[in-house]
Amino acid sequence: MGLVVQKYGGSSVADAEGIKRVAKRIVEAKKNGHQVVAVVSAMGDTTDELIDLAEQVSPIPAGRELDMLLTAGERISMALLAMAIKNLGHSAQSFTGSQAGVITDSVHNKARIIDVTPGRIRDSLDEGNIAIVAGFQGVSQDTKDITTLGRGGSDTTAVALAAALDAEVCEIYTDVDGVFTADPRVVKKARKIDWISFEDMLELAASGSKVLLHRCVEYARRYNIPIHVRSSFSGLQGTWVSSEPIKQGDKQVEQAIISGVAHDTSEAKITVVGVPDKPGEAAAIFRTIADAEINIDMVVQNVSAASTGLTDISFTLPKTEGRKAIDALEKNKAGIGFDSLRYDDQIGKISLVGAGMKTNPGVTAAFFEALSDAGVNIELISTSEIRISVVTRADDVSEAVRAVHTAFGLDSDSDEAVVYGGTGR
Ligand code: ADP
Ligand code: ASP
Ligand code: MG
Repeated sequence: MGLVVQKYGGSSVADAEGIKRVAKRIVEAKKNGHQVVAVVSAMGDTTDELIDLAEQVSPIPAGRELDMLLTAGERISMALLAMAIKNLGHSAQSFTGSQAGVITDSVHNKARIIDVTPGRIRDSLDEGNIAIVAGFQGVSQDTKDITTLGRGGSDTTAVALAAALDAEVCEIYTDVDGVFTADPRVVKKARKIDWISFEDMLELAASGSKVLLHRCVEYARRYNIPIHVRSSFSGLQGTWVSSEPIKQGDKQVEQAIISGVAHDTSEAKITVVGVPDKPGEAAAIFRTIADAEINIDMVVQNVSAASTGLTDISFTLPKTEGRKAIDALEKNKAGIGFDSLRYDDQIGKISLVGAGMKTNPGVTAAFFEALSDAGVNIELISTSEIRISVVTRADDVSEAVRAVHTAFGLDSDSDEAVVYGGTGR
């Protein structure tokens, strides 16, 4: 029996009852002979509540201090969980990200893990303890300041520790039974996926399926760590995310043509109006955005009006970066040379993901037909080899996801997907 890393999300440890339930599960794994490292998130919506609190004292809280504040959320759950395990007669020790050796760069609020040195965790396990680690946090190599890994970052902590400790598996426990063909909060007929490749999971995560964080899947693929996504509320088998298909009985699970539909309402659209249609303009706009350390997603440039020689360029970015992007562009307005900016945060993105679309003609056509039949207007389009995404009005997103899910035959004909907890915030 080897080492397992288990990660419990906020909804799994939302209250004292939840913490006791999770403690029992962890003890079960220990009793089965495993060495167990448990990574925990902050209780329930604690992180959101702390952010709200910070914004009440300062509209744009300083990154360093916000990180200091937010990491308190995970500290609370790790200490309570260790206490609950001790109460069951087993030994447990809790560790902050920094104590667990999670070393990051110094970009506050979205730091990247650059190294993991889990010496203290290893020692604690060797002494027979269960190790509890605060997710979502680390310490900067350069500044020695405390950092956070971006929203949902506990998933990445878990996989990074699993890689550093050479774990057998990284189990991600959450409030649904696994990865589904769509968000079960939106599509009741979503189907649980038994196995999904790293590639398809990466696209789903990047397209807004927040059941796994994109960076966590990237990390797991790089180190070839199998992930098992499952519910902490049920005993059911979940979804395996790995490089090779799993076996069911003696049969390999097949790669689906279409893995699922993802949606995302966390982005906004900026349109730069009246841009001269000449070389270097797009470069100047996106250099400005890059220098502000903002990641963009989709980009479209309209054809220029013959009479004016001016064009519009639109792009999408996280809503949380909207203010910063507008400020940066306004500051460089004279240098770039545009008329005005339009900001729209009432947009949503719908994506269809599946490796099978590379070899199956007609997927794009069927996707657009489904949207058209549902009366959904498309504003932007982007594609990769295994994904098609469109931007629509935010109000249309749920309807569009359901329409596309049905059109591609993904609806389950038996059971409804269960959501065990969480507020969906
Ligand atoms: P945790 O607190 O455990 O980290 P999250 O809220 O981050 O949980 O992720 C779980 C949620 O992800 C689910 O409750 C569900 O609403 C959402 N979700 C979005 N897309 C999917 C999907 N394709 N499959 C399963 N869950 C999804
Ligand atoms: N507590 C953090 C968040 O809500 C990290 C996590 O849950 O993964 O984003
Ligand atoms: Mg999460």
